[in-house]
Amino acid sequence: MTSTESAGTAVRHGLAAAADALDAADPLRAHRDAFVGAESSLVYFDGNSLGRPLRATAERLSAFVREEWGGRLIRGWDESWMQLPFELGDALGRAALGAAAGQTVIGDSTTVLLYKLVRAAFDAAAADDPARVEIVVDRDNFPTDRYLVEGIAAERGGRVRWIEVDRASGVSAQALREAVGPETAVVLLSHVAYRSGYLADAATLTRIAHDAGALILWDLCHSAGSVPVEADAWEVDLAVGCTYKYLNGGPGSPAFAYVASRLQNRLAQPIQGWMGTADVFAMGPSYEPAPGMRRFLSGTPPILGMLAMQDTVALIDEVGIDAIRAKSVGLTEFAVRVSDELLAPLGVTVASPRDAAARGGHVTLSHPAMRSVTARLWTQDVIPDYRDPDGLRIGLSPLSTSFAETLRGLEAVEAAVRAGS
Ligand SMILES: *Cc1c(COP(=O)(O)O)cnc(C)c1O
Repeated sequence: MTSTESAGTAVRHGLAAAADALDAADPLRAHRDAFVGAESSLVYFDGNSLGRPLRATAERLSAFVREEWGGRLIRGWDESWMQLPFELGDALGRAALGAAAGQTVIGDSTTVLLYKLVRAAFDAAAADDPARVEIVVDRDNFPTDRYLVEGIAAERGGRVRWIEVDRASGVSAQALREAVGPETAVVLLSHVAYRSGYLADAATLTRIAHDAGALILWDLCHSAGSVPVEADAWEVDLAVGCTYKYLNGGPGSPAFAYVASRLQNRLAQPIQGWMGTADVFAMGPSYEPAPGMRRFLSGTPPILGMLAMQDTVALIDEVGIDAIRAKSVGLTEFAVRVSDELLAPLGVTVASPRDAAARGGHVTLSHPAMRSVTARLWTQDVIPDYRDPDGLRIGLSPLSTSFAETLRGLEAVEAAVRAGS
């Protein structure tokens, strides 16, 4: 045996022992078994894109079809469904968003809610001060966010002000300070960058937007259910996020919107539908927006899509978002360690912040072969995802991922990179 090989063996043993010790000490470890598929050897690194379902969800869905939909039929709207978007919004706000009741609703897709709220915020700011015609957004924000603001600016005679950012990090306080001013209407930023995992300092950036007289909307898609959010304490104006990522709502489950109480009745969203009116069944001659959060709804809410997330919201409420964040930090720290010890010698680099305080729940690893590495891994039941350029995203959903699973998956990455995929 050569000395390199024996060093390699020692590294492997060290990592395996560390994974076992971390799992043994993990206070959330038992919750992994509550997810469908936990017993299989499949490695899931994409819970940040589509979370695994809880076992309880299978029962909830079939009971809903039998009893509520099948049994109560249209009476269900009066009995509970009309209120579900608000009750579930409040539960999510309490468990994961630091939002007091009455400010969160489950509604349309993230894209549609972003459109409604960015446009409402733009119009409110421009109405108060016609000089405010700019929407500030960064070049590395998620595509839908960038495309939407271009459309809204064109539609409303405004402008997009782009912040250039380093893809390995995100929007800094300095960069935002330079971008905002007397012409800013609204700022749209992601709390956790979908590519790098960079975790923005939302409290500081919110203050900077406010000091410039602008409103700010946070996209929480990659933070809700993984990173604590303090929407009220940070004085966030608006926020939108997905529920099919860390909230395990299932494919296409509807998104949530948060609107601070102080703003709700000042905002008029553009998709004026009957479900957003004060007296839905009055069916009056013209649109009268409801006071409070109801005005942000448009049409009939997607009740079926709101079922699965209820189990995860309840679980987050039970275990606490701070405990989930602590596990998440442990998982990403371990992934960075494994990458440094096993993958760095193969030319793989960590494209996410190394400081856990500046990192969300996923770690992106870069190497020129990552596109084909991803394709190979999927055939082996190891499921990360790929993001241009060269990025293998390792999503580590804290409630459903173990340290041993993380190590197993990264060993498969090592083999695939070695094979030159
Ligand atoms: C996942 C994600 C979206 C997706 O929006 P949909 O309307 O659900 O397709 C939007 N923004 C960010 C930052 C995301 O991560």
